Amino acid sequence: MALAIYPGSFDPITLGHIDVMNRASHLFDDIIIAVVNNTAKNMTFSVEERVEMVKKATSHLTNVNVESFAGLTVELAKKKGANILIRGLRAVSDFEFEFTMYQMNKQLNSDIDMVFMMAGLEYQFMSSSLVKEIASMGGDVSHTVPPSVEAVLKNHYAKISVTV
Ligand code: ADP
Repeated sequence: MALAIYPGSFDPITLGHIDVMNRASHLFDDIIIAVVNNTAKNMTFSVEERVEMVKKATSHLTNVNVESFAGLTVELAKKKGANILIRGLRAVSDFEFEFTMYQMNKQLNSDIDMVFMMAGLEYQFMSSSLVKEIASMGGDVSHTVPPSVEAVLKNHYAKISVTV
């Protein structure tokens, strides 16, 4: 049985991430979406909020489970009995970072391999940070995130504009 892990910050999940998840769900028997709980990274949303958003956005995928994790992804994979890590690749920008991560992960655990899925054409320039930037200025993000995430973003930035 092929079990794969798709790790990421998902701060928040975008349609680009969901496109990768939809396509990966046809390639693997089961997928664990591992939402990184890393205090060193400055996240906009708490890990609970990010897990909740991913759960809602992937409720149509029956072979996908969502959980949070802290620490090394290769350790999580070992614990879960998964030997594949999925990552998305956008044009050029992701390659160098992902290539380094691949080499590091291989050194840490040579049993675990990584599968890189090309971002869909319409999602090449979509990132969580860009979505947040647009949402923070009151822009329309409906073509970049699912409605449930759009609502969370609206609420988040409405609260901030009240407090400043
Ligand atoms: P991380 O902090 O681990 O990079 P992200 O949530 O930014 O977390 O991204 C998780 C994974 O999803 C990464 O492999 C990233 O390259 C990929 N990804 C991000 N945005 C897109 C997109 N628009 N299309 C396809 N893959 C994407």
